[in-house]
Amino acid sequence: MNFELNYIDFHTHHPSLNGERVIQDGVDTQGRHPWEPLPSPPHKGGSKSYPPSLGGDRGRLLALGESGLDRLCDTPYDLQLQVFREEVSLSEELQKPLFLHCVRAIDDVLRIRKELNARQPWIWHGYRGNAKQLQQLLPHGFYFSFGTKFNPEALLACPLDRLLLETDDDTTTPIADLYARVAQLRGISLDALIRQMHDNFHVLFE
Ligand SMILES: [Zn+2]
Repeated sequence: MNFELNYIDFHTHHPSLNGERVIQDGVDTQGRHPWEPLPSPPHKGGSKSYPPSLGGDRGRLLALGESGLDRLCDTPYDLQLQVFREEVSLSEELQKPLFLHCVRAIDDVLRIRKELNARQPWIWHGYRGNAKQLQQLLPHGFYFSFGTKFNPEALLACPLDRLLLETDDDTTTPIADLYARVAQLRGISLDALIRQMHDNFHVLFE
């Protein structure tokens, strides 16, 4: 057999740049972000309705999000909590994972996960936390998507079957560069890393 697997970029704000498979925010995932929590104007260029359960695209939506809590943004925290609970409920109802945006709010995120008895995987995207926090979150069903800036110890501490890679809003760094860096840090081959990312994609989204 002679075929090549694509790179997968698990969270972007842009379409594929070099043939990699992307999970594009607003296209493959939809959610109310703590920065902009209102059911706001439809996404540029699209005709998406919100919530996605009411839209025709429900079937092809891979996940909810980004959604979460952000202690450093201007949105009133009570409103963030309310919106996040609604997004979590929707993720459970639709049986789709949730891309998590979390800034200095992990205690509340964990409390809400417990309170709503959430079972869907939560993907902490752009993870920059340390290894200790990562280890505390693993038993709760979290996945960690690492971007171009990350804590190397956290990357080493993350089990490969909970690890994802993303470029987010960076359109200048090819995802292949991040894969190469991570494969080297983890001491595995690039092929093995690519295969692992495919396995993770299947577990989460198929
Ligand atoms: Zn993003």
